[in-house]
Amino acid sequence: MDFDDTPQEAEFRARCRAFLEQHLEPLDPDETSPNMLGEREDDAAIQRAKDWQATKFDNGWAVLTWPKEYGGQGMGRMEAVIWGQEEAKFKTPPAIYGIGHGMLGPTLMTHGSDEQKAQYVKEMARGQEVWCQLFSEPAAGSDLAGLRTTAVRDGDEWVLNGQKIWSTGAHYCDWGMIVTRTDPNAAKHAGLTYFIVDMRSPGIEVRPIQQINGASGFNEVFFSDVRVPEGNRLGAEGNGWQVAITTLMNERVAIGAGGGGGRLKDLLTLARESRRGGRPAIEDASVRQQIADFWITSKGLQYVGYRTLSALSRGGTPGPEGAIGKAVGAPLGQQLAAFAIELQGAMGALNQDDLVPMEAMWQDAYLGSPGLRIAGGTDEILKNIIAERVLGLPPEMRVDKDKPFRDVPTGPPSKS
Ligand SMILES: Cc1cc2nc3c(=O)[nH]c(=O)nc-3n(C[C@H](O)[C@H](O)[C@H](O)COP(=O)(O)OP(=O)(O)OC[C@H]3O[C@@H](n4cnc5c(N)ncnc54)[C@H](O)[C@@H]3O)c2cc1C
Repeated sequence: MDFDDTPQEAEFRARCRAFLEQHLEPLDPDETSPNMLGEREDDAAIQRAKDWQATKFDNGWAVLTWPKEYGGQGMGRMEAVIWGQEEAKFKTPPAIYGIGHGMLGPTLMTHGSDEQKAQYVKEMARGQEVWCQLFSEPAAGSDLAGLRTTAVRDGDEWVLNGQKIWSTGAHYCDWGMIVTRTDPNAAKHAGLTYFIVDMRSPGIEVRPIQQINGASGFNEVFFSDVRVPEGNRLGAEGNGWQVAITTLMNERVAIGAGGGGGRLKDLLTLARESRRGGRPAIEDASVRQQIADFWITSKGLQYVGYRTLSALSRGGTPGPEGAIGKAVGAPLGQQLAAFAIELQGAMGALNQDDLVPMEAMWQDAYLGSPGLRIAGGTDEILKNIIAERVLGLPPEMRVDKDKPFRDVPTGPPSKS
């Protein structure tokens, strides 16, 4: 792969930049990148995000890779990457469309009926309605197929009961995509069905969870006799696992693409501005060595990402190798933040924006980084995927694989 822009790509980059300059304020080159977990998402910030999305949509710059009939531009992945690189140089509102545009839109386009695609996809692209992912439960995260939220058919509707957790953005979302158990007599992966849910339906209660960094980005969501029309079933009854896999494969590519490497510029700035032994920290050999190590890892990550992109731009779908980007990128982000805090000396223990270098962005990144090693597949699960599906090593033992779900034990055996 040639990493320089072709003449066409350079021309496209210039067009992106011209549009962005017309509508957004550029980031000062010395300014730090936006917070890793995004700006705190209050109502005003959500509205700014919606306004910016509408501007992009109305001017032909939204969801570039989606087909034109669904509000996209029918462009290739390379154009989307170039757009992303250029947009990142400007002050943008918080990124609230990662789940909808990165994961749920592609799922709808792959598995939705013509009516569902016509009803939802273009609106999703325009972004005035925001979507969340309702997969994880208190006892079903890595083992997602062990989920227990039920959906029972009642005439032309399904009745949902149960609890989801860690639902990012559910408190401001209009729509959700949910995986439920519809057949407890089938083996655990076979008895699942996938639905689109109106988040304003009676019986849905959203409770925000407060995080260690003070933000409340995700939620518990309770379902009590929530009625969902049969027309909102996505994919066949009992086929929910296959639909969910499409979402998860897209999730790993979307998350992995972020990585930690983008923050190296900020780390270099910090190393130049911090002092060690009476001199700028950047002059210390051990600091230089560590930054060089980070740089090497982040370059490796970048090129693995390009390899995935090349495959996708040739028309492939995201495969298990997408797990590599996240398995390396999420720990890298955490290591960068830990090293940056160490560079700050005693100041590293504080977290007040007005006292700490770079408005405490490294403290925020450090507190958020464990979550990024869990979201969308934990480190261990990603390593299992790489071992089994990329390297072809023997699979984990799965004792409950072919058992009817209702016979899978959920606690210690009873004494009687
Ligand atoms: C920032 C963030 C955002 C999220 N957003 C969403 C969202 O929008 N929607 C949603 O549905 N969910 C979301 N999640 C939930 C996320 O998908 C789950 O947290 C994740 O899948 C792990 O599940 P768990 O928390 O139940 O941990 P568990 O699965 O209980 O794992 C606990 C530990 O056991 C290890 N482990 C589990 N199984 C194995 C195994 N087979 N082999 C080796 N080790 C194993 C794990 O690696 C982990 O260390 C989010 C999570 C985070 C942190």
